[in-house]
Amino acid sequence: ESQPQTLGFQTEVKQLLQLMIHSLYSNKEIFLRELVSNAADAADKLRFESLVRPELLEGAGELRIRVDYDAAARTVSIEDNGIGMSREEAVAHLGTIAKSGTADFLAHLSGDQKKDAHLIGQFGVGFYSAFIVADQVDVYSRRAGLPASEGVHWSSRGEGEFNVATIERAERGTRIVLHLKDGEEGYADAWRLRGIIKKYSDHIALPVELRKEAEGEDAGAEAQWEAVNRASALWTRPRGEVKDAEYQEFYKHLAHDHADPLAWSHNKVEGKLEYTSLLYVPGRAPYDLYHRDAAKGLKLYVQRVFIMDQAEQFLPLYLRFIKGVVDSGDLSLNVSREILQAGPVIDSMKAALTRRSLDMLEKLAKDKPQDYAAFWKQFGQVLKEGPAEDYGNREKIAGLLRFASTHGTDGAQDVALADYIARLREGQDKLYYLTGESHAQIKDSPHLEVFRKKGIEVLLMTDRIDEWLMGYLTEFDGKSFVDIARGDLDLGALDSAEEKQAQEQAAQEKQALVERIKQALGEEVAEVRVSQRLTDSPAILAIGRDDLGLQMRQILEVSGQ
Ligand code: ADP
Ligand code: MG
Repeated sequence: ESQPQTLGFQTEVKQLLQLMIHSLYSNKEIFLRELVSNAADAADKLRFESLVRPELLEGAGELRIRVDYDAAARTVSIEDNGIGMSREEAVAHLGTIAKSGTADFLAHLSGDQKKDAHLIGQFGVGFYSAFIVADQVDVYSRRAGLPASEGVHWSSRGEGEFNVATIERAERGTRIVLHLKDGEEGYADAWRLRGIIKKYSDHIALPVELRKEAEGEDAGAEAQWEAVNRASALWTRPRGEVKDAEYQEFYKHLAHDHADPLAWSHNKVEGKLEYTSLLYVPGRAPYDLYHRDAAKGLKLYVQRVFIMDQAEQFLPLYLRFIKGVVDSGDLSLNVSREILQAGPVIDSMKAALTRRSLDMLEKLAKDKPQDYAAFWKQFGQVLKEGPAEDYGNREKIAGLLRFASTHGTDGAQDVALADYIARLREGQDKLYYLTGESHAQIKDSPHLEVFRKKGIEVLLMTDRIDEWLMGYLTEFDGKSFVDIARGDLDLGALDSAEEKQAQEQAAQEKQALVERIKQALGEEVAEVRVSQRLTDSPAILAIGRDDLGLQMRQILEVSGQ
C-alpha cells in the first residue's frame, strides 16, 4: 500500500454511524441486501458506461456478484465486477452522504428507536449498514478503465474516521470485507447467507453466487461458486409467475423503503410502442415529499440496460410518489437526459403511464378501501395538485379525491364524489362545498344552516390547497360545484314554489331594514341582501361570486401581496 491517508467522516455520516452501531435495526440481516444492491447498481453503471466505451469491460465475461465467508476469520465478503471506484470516488462516496436533505432527515430523528428505524429504512443508508454487523469494514476496489496500479483500499472501524490507500488491484470492481462483531459471527455461514440472499436479493438481475463448501478431497481445491438467486430482471418475467413477496422485495430495492408497497401494476405493452412498466404505490410518504429536489421519477432501462434513476419525464408531478421501472424497447441506448426531454415516444409513454397509475389507484380504492384510506392520508394532498396540472385527466383524478363532508362528523376525508352523488337529494343538480381553515371552524358555519335543514350534504374542505383545487375542478359527472359561501345562493329545484314565494315576500317586507343596514355599514360591504341561507343565525357575511376566497386571501397576505 502507498500514500495512506486518514480522513474524517462528514458530520452527518458520523451521526448515522452512531445510530447504526447502537443497532437501531431490529433487522440486522438487511446489511447484505444493501451491499448486494450496491453491487448490482455498480454492474448497471458499468453496462451503461460500456455502451459508449466498450473497452471498460476489459474483455472480461459475465457480470456477477460473489458472496464469501470464513467462519474461522469471522468475515463475510461481497465482491462484484462492476464499475468499481477510484480513490477519489471511494473518499467521496464512502465518506459523505450526497443525498439532498440529509441534515433535514437527521433533524427528523426522534430518539425513539422504532420510529427512527423506519426513517432510516426509507432514507436508504445503504453502505453504512455494514457497520450494523461489522466492527471493521475493508473495501478493495478498482474503477473500470483505470490501470491495476490505481486500486484503492478503504478501511474503517466506523468510529469517525476512515483510511484510504492506493493499492495494486488486478480485478475490476469492488470487494467489501466485513469483520463481524462479537455476537454476529453467525453470519459467516453458507446456509444463513443463502437464506438471506434468497429472501432479499432474488430479484437482482445478475447472478449472486455463494461459495460452495469444499468437502473431503475437494478441500483446498479452487473455489466453486453457485448462483443462489434467480437472476432475471423481475419485470421481464410473466406476471403470473411472480409472487407477491417477490414484487414486494423488488419494491424495497427500488424505492429504498423497507415497508411494503400498497399496490403495484405490472404491464407489458406491445404494438406501436414496446415497453414494460412496473409501477408501485408506496405505503408511506418519504420525509422529503415536498422538497423540490426530492427523488422522483422512474428507473429507466432500455432493452434491459440500466439508463438512469429518477427519470422524471414519464409521470406528471402530481404522481411523483409513484415508484417503478420502465424498460423501453423503442428508445435508443444512447438516450441522455437532454434527449429524454421531449418527443412523441416519451409523450405517449407518459400519457399511458399516467393512466396506468390512475387505474392502479382506482383499483386500490375499489378493492381495498382501507389501504386506499392509508394512501389518501399520505399522498392525498399531492393528488389534489392533479386537476390543475393534468386537465385532461381531471375527471378521473376527481374520482380519486376524498373529502370531509357534513355526512360525517369527525372531519375525516373519506367521502368520494361518487358517494356524494349517490346521496343527492331529489332535484339537486349541484355539488355544494364550503372551504375554511379547519374542520372545527367550519363545521358549525351559519352557511350550513339551510343545508342542514333540507338534509343536503355539503363537502367541507380545509386543506390549504383546496380553494386552488376548486379553481380547476369546476364539475364532476356533469354537475357543477358551488361554493356555498359565495354570492347569491340559488338552491334551484331544491326550494319549492311556496318557499320561493315566501322568500320573495320576506325580501320585500324587509326592504326598509336592508336600506338601514346598508347605510350603517356603508363602504364596508358590497351589498346587503335578505338571505334564505339562515335558519337560526340573524346575519352572515358572504363572499362575492368572483372574489378571492378566504384561504387564498390568507395565502396572499402571508406572502405579502
Ligand atoms: P446509494 O446506493 O443509495 O447511493 P449507498 O450508501 O448504498 O447509497 O452507497 C453509496 C455510494 O457508494 C454509491 O452511490 C456508490 O457510488 C458507492 N458504492 C457503494 N458500493 C459500491 C460498489 N460495490 N461499487 C461501486 N460503487 C459503490
Ligand atoms: Mg445502496
